[in-house]
Amino acid sequence: MAELSARMRSMVQPYLAGIEPYDPNFTPTRINLSANENTYPLPADVREAVDRALAATPLNRYPDPMSNELRDELAARHGVARENICVGNGGDELLFNFLLAFGGEGRQLLNCPPCFSEYEFFASLTRTGVRNVRRDRKTFALDERALLAAAPHASLAIITSPNNPTGDVVECSFIERLCHACPGPVMVDEAYIEFADAGTSTEGLLEDCPNLVVLHTLSKAFGAAGIRCGYVIAAPDVIEVFAAIRQIYSVNVLTQAAAAAMVRAHDAFSPVVEQIRSERERMYRALAADGRLTVWPSQGNFLLVRMEGASRIRERLRDEFSILVRDFSYAPGLDGCLRITVGTPEENDEVLAALAALLD
Ligand SMILES: *Cc1c(COP(=O)(O)O)cnc(C)c1O
Repeated sequence: MAELSARMRSMVQPYLAGIEPYDPNFTPTRINLSANENTYPLPADVREAVDRALAATPLNRYPDPMSNELRDELAARHGVARENICVGNGGDELLFNFLLAFGGEGRQLLNCPPCFSEYEFFASLTRTGVRNVRRDRKTFALDERALLAAAPHASLAIITSPNNPTGDVVECSFIERLCHACPGPVMVDEAYIEFADAGTSTEGLLEDCPNLVVLHTLSKAFGAAGIRCGYVIAAPDVIEVFAAIRQIYSVNVLTQAAAAAMVRAHDAFSPVVEQIRSERERMYRALAADGRLTVWPSQGNFLLVRMEGASRIRERLRDEFSILVRDFSYAPGLDGCLRITVGTPEENDEVLAALAALLD
């Protein structure tokens, strides 16, 4: 990977000298199943509602800093109050602000790799220490006992559910215990929760756990990664912290308008989510039936698959079939693993056919 020039290394803050410019490793391909986007078209009536909302949005005025109209739609969807919600420029902005507010020098993030790599990246940017409690090497199950033992020393914690890239969900009863054991806020990153079984969200714990923060995004189930919109749900005093430190205009007027129209129409997304769930099961069965592959059950819109020569197979999928998937084989604990987003039935058929051809 690239590094900063020697000139820049001498100019940036010393702790940033070793930083590597982000390389999304993006190649335009015919079928892109590398970023867990929703590859289905937006329902036509939702797209029309979004277009109407965008057309009616003046561009000359600054946005409402708190996205109150959108907050009200989100509050209605989740059965909470506006005061329980803060909107951000993608979930990523809220993750960064979470580390900025509650992490920092001399403080510690409780983290459970393999998981979303942004957590450790944002910890490094905010000079937050990281206490990694690794998942089980074979099953990727959380080490609940080690987490509860480490929690009293953590300033903040993040648990991903469903976890990216392993696909498993956390038990609500465990999050309740973790919230009680951790003196700081505990975030459950539910970016993929719409694809999980009913009853898996930890939102129901918010009332009993005032240090719980639940992260959501419109990038996955809502198929709106391009508009950059995420939000957290938490107790009002936690939301006040997020509101106080955010860049006030980070959520632009077009994003607020489009997101409000989409959230208002959230029922229209159920058939798409159902189809992705059923395609996920079909893909899982097909991949699990191949003795050369290991695949883990997933509650997200993606599957983690281990195989011999994974990096080479990913390259050949890209170069010979124009199919892009994500290579995790370099990541600790994920050797030989590729992550494949569940796409449309046609895309998934192509993945299965291409893999069968490459593995022979
Ligand atoms: C995609 C994702 C997010 C948020 O993505 P945004 O596009 O920034 O909203 C957060 N957490 C996980 C684990 C993700 O995979």
